[in-house]
This record gives sequence, C-alpha cells and structure tokens, in this order.
Amino acid sequence: MNIRGSILVVGLGSVFALVLPGLFYAGDQQHLVIYALIGLLGVCGATAAILWTIRLERKAKRLDELDHLKSEFVSRVSHELRTPLTTIKALTRLLLRGEVREQKQREYLETISIECDRQIDLILNLLDLSRIEGGVFRIDLERVEVDDVIASCVKGEIAAAERRRHKLEVKTFGPLPPICSDPKHLRRVISNLIENSIKYTPDGGLISISAEAEAGNVAIRVTDNGRGIPKEDLSILFDKFYRGRPAPHSAAMNDAATDEEFLEDADMSGVGLGLYLARDVMKRMGGRISVETEVGKGSTFTLHLPIWNAGSSINTISEMSVNAETIARS
Ligand code: ADP
Repeated sequence: MNIRGSILVVGLGSVFALVLPGLFYAGDQQHLVIYALIGLLGVCGATAAILWTIRLERKAKRLDELDHLKSEFVSRVSHELRTPLTTIKALTRLLLRGEVREQKQREYLETISIECDRQIDLILNLLDLSRIEGGVFRIDLERVEVDDVIASCVKGEIAAAERRRHKLEVKTFGPLPPICSDPKHLRRVISNLIENSIKYTPDGGLISISAEAEAGNVAIRVTDNGRGIPKEDLSILFDKFYRGRPAPHSAAMNDAATDEEFLEDADMSGVGLGLYLARDVMKRMGGRISVETEVGKGSTFTLHLPIWNAGSSINTISEMSVNAETIARS
C-alpha cells in the first residue's frame, strides 16, 4: 500500500473508531469511553504504521537512487576500461603485422603506453575508493621534498601535454621547506590535477605548476587557461562521481548533446573520482584542496600541505602504516 492509501485507511479508521460509536451508542458512558480508548489506540497504531511505511518508502527510494548511480558508474567504468583496450588491441595488431614504418611504430607504442597508464590510473582510483569505503585506506606520512614530487609528476605528463600542444611550465618561489606527506598519494593527486588541466583545456593551452611556502604550509598550485568550472557546480565539484559538462561556449557543447555523448568524447573521459579522492587524501595528510575558477578563463587548484616538523605527532602515523599497493605506475 502506498502513502496516500495508508492515510485514507487511517482517516476512515478514525471515523469508524471514534465518531461512529459516539453517534450510535445508546449504552452507558463508561463503555463509550472504553470504546473510544480502544479506537484511539487503533488510530495511534495505524499512524505509527503509516510513519513506518513512509520511512520504508524513503529508504526504498534512496536505495533506487543508489542503485541507479551504481549502474551508471559501472557503465562509465566499463566504458573507460574498454576504450583504451580497443585502442591497445588495434595498435598491437598493426604492429604484429610488421608492416608499420619505424617512426609510426614508436608513435603507436607511445599511444599504447599512455592508454595503459590511463587504465592503471583508473584501477588505482577504484582501489582507493574501495579502501576508503572499507575503512582500510592507509597513508604513509614522511618527509617529502616538494620539488622532487612536482618534477616526477610533470615528467609523467609531458607526453600527454604535448599531444594536446599544451605548454607545461613549473615555477617555484624561493627555497621550499620539506613537507609532511605521503609521496605516493601526493604524486597521484598532483598528477590528477595536471591531467584534468590537460583534459579540460582546449589544445595549445598553458598549464603552470607552482609551489611556495605560505604560513606554516607549502602551497602547490596547478593553473590552466582552460574552460573553467561554472559557479553553480562548485558546491558539488569534490563530490563522488561528479562530472561536469562542457562550458556553454565550448565547441563540444551544443543544445542537443546528451550526457552520454559528452562522456563518449575520449578527451573528456573520466569517472568523476579524481577530485573526490584528492580531497579525501589531502584531509588525511593534514592538508586541504581549494579551487579558484572562472568559466572561459581557467582554473587554479591549490593544495596546502603542512611543513615537515620532526617532532610532530601527525608524522608518527607512518610508522604504523603498511604499504599495501600492488599496482604501481612505471
Ligand atoms: P573526471 O576528470 O574523471 O571527470 P574529476 O573528479 O577529476 O573526474 O573531475 C570532476 C569534474 O570536475 C570533471 O568532470 C570536470 O568537469 C571538472 N574539472 C576538474 N578539473 C577541471 C579543470 N582543470 N578545468 C575545468 N573543469 C575541471
């Protein structure tokens, strides 16, 4: 029975239980009171049943929504796994035929390597998500040199940036103090921010990575002159599975474009986990992530991380941690 049906039943029940005995009862007053009390109990019971039904219906609705979200997520992940695999398979076949010129061979191998990295990133993100949700996500905090981490992230993204004719530049202001962080996770957060800048900036853009010491922290910034993020999306930007649509002026955006068509666009591929994981990991490392952005002009994502303090209690967490990573990006 649905909520409206339940309310109707309780309404009618109340009339029968409370009003009718009063109208037609000809016996003594004492019995009338007893009947009324029994009726009242019945009404209370029915009301409680209605409230329970409402609660169950709400829960069922929420479960339906989650189920829908999960199906959508599974289909996105499958798509994200299938697309690079199709490319890898096609290029491998061409290479195996042995008819490809040497220069093309190199190009194909680079593409295969990039597609493999995309898959590894996705799998690592999925593993992190499942560890966070299962309460077994571990952070190994240690003394980290910011320059080294930035240099290794930039090195890993040069090929992808070149493919989109982006300029990647690195600026550091003054000598940087060491920070307290998990280098493996920090590298993934920064790489993800650079990858997003590469993805969401039209070809030939400028992506700049900078770092400077700021009041007990080191701020690492990834700035692009890409499409920017609409203001109304900022409150959900770091939510799990959030995926934006192209900015209104973008070539990829037209009125007829559906979400599926947008997600099909290989350059915009993703599952909406990167920023969610970045925020979570930053919190666990005692830092935070913020964004400044303007549609059509670009975005700056800033990571604030605490400076390494040899005696600090937060640093000691690393001693208990176990490094359980099994898949590593080469
Ligand atoms: P994904 O890239 O897989 O969609 P993320 O969590 O990394 O997942 O990003 C979520 C969304 O935030 C993206 O879909 C995109 O709309 C928006 N976004 C992230 N970084 C940028 C950026 N540098 N410029 C514009 N939009 C961005």
